Amino acid sequence: MSGSGAPPISIRGVRKRYGRVRALDDVDLEVRAGEFLTLLGPSGSGKTTLLMALAGFIRPDAGQVFFGGEEITLLPPHRRNVGMVFQNYALFPHMDVAANIAYPLKLRGISKSAAADKVARALDLVRLSGFGERRVHQLSGGQKQRVALARAVVFAPRVLLMDEPLSALDKKLREEMQAELREMHEKLGMTTVYVTHDQREALTMSDRIAVFNEGDAVQIGAPREIYDRPANAFVADFIGESALLPVRAESGKVFWKNVRVFAAEDSPPDGEYFLLLRPERLNVLPDFEDSAAANNGNIFCGALGGMSYQGESVLLNVLLDGGIRIGARIADRRTVAALPEAGGRIRLLLRQEDAALVPRTKK
Ligand code: ADP
Ligand code: MG
Repeated sequence: MSGSGAPPISIRGVRKRYGRVRALDDVDLEVRAGEFLTLLGPSGSGKTTLLMALAGFIRPDAGQVFFGGEEITLLPPHRRNVGMVFQNYALFPHMDVAANIAYPLKLRGISKSAAADKVARALDLVRLSGFGERRVHQLSGGQKQRVALARAVVFAPRVLLMDEPLSALDKKLREEMQAELREMHEKLGMTTVYVTHDQREALTMSDRIAVFNEGDAVQIGAPREIYDRPANAFVADFIGESALLPVRAESGKVFWKNVRVFAAEDSPPDGEYFLLLRPERLNVLPDFEDSAAANNGNIFCGALGGMSYQGESVLLNVLLDGGIRIGARIADRRTVAALPEAGGRIRLLLRQEDAALVPRTKK
């Protein structure tokens, strides 16, 4: 069966153990046609193992993988029609750039003239026209990764898999390449599964992100959804900066200790939660503004600890009355100029719409 409505990739209950290590713990995931999906998680969370199961280099202990509705769990890699890019380029050092890119075409028995044409177009796509005769060792890291990318897409694979392709590059080049990859994705519309441990990279590049922790996809969603509404404390903590206040909901009302909190969620079910405090969502409330101005917002009082200058903003360290330390990021210069001395009283406003509740569950 290869139904047209079937998702390009469907992963059902995929499990992989190494001794007692659960590299993948019954993962379910669907990749949509043409999307850029990122597997994001700390080192050791199972991202590479899942990508290798998609490429066919690893056999799951249990579960199934489908491509376009067709089960391919045990199909060997060369019959899957996937393009792959690795962190370490994996180019053939004894071949020139054009021969590297032509290699998958040769494997597929494509004629020399047709191959030359495709290679030229792939070189153009990665902005390396004219580099065909270069040797691999004559290329910079960024250029090598472009060649690897050209080689991965030259045969128009049905999916493109990339495992931390930019992590060997320095920050500036990495950010340039992020933009280029994203542009290329928009041009080709190829279904892409991308692996990174860098949350900022995942947030900027992805249509959707699957957050991994200990072999489990703990949350799958659009970047904004993951950032604004983390499914649990792990996701809140791993993505962006945050402090988590332990709160509880009772008959639709939310309390921190016995202080009423106005959460973004309307009448959450009774139970224990965390309130998400992102540094950039906290605003300093000037002295002259009374609490009513906060209008259903949440006001947190405390003492200003240190502050660190970070170029485009200042990060305040605030010790809340109640004993929890939180960060508040202030970008407005006038607000910074009006701050009290260290140790002085400070009031922070968290608007209701920014006051997300984080469930205290693992999944
Ligand atoms: P990630 O790519 O997220 O860093 P991996 O998928 O590489 O994580 O690894 C997941 C877990 O499986 C880790 O604990 C890792 O040590 C373990 N693992 C991966 N490959 C092997 C292997 N070939 N033999 C033993 N353990 C492995
Ligand atoms: Mg990995």
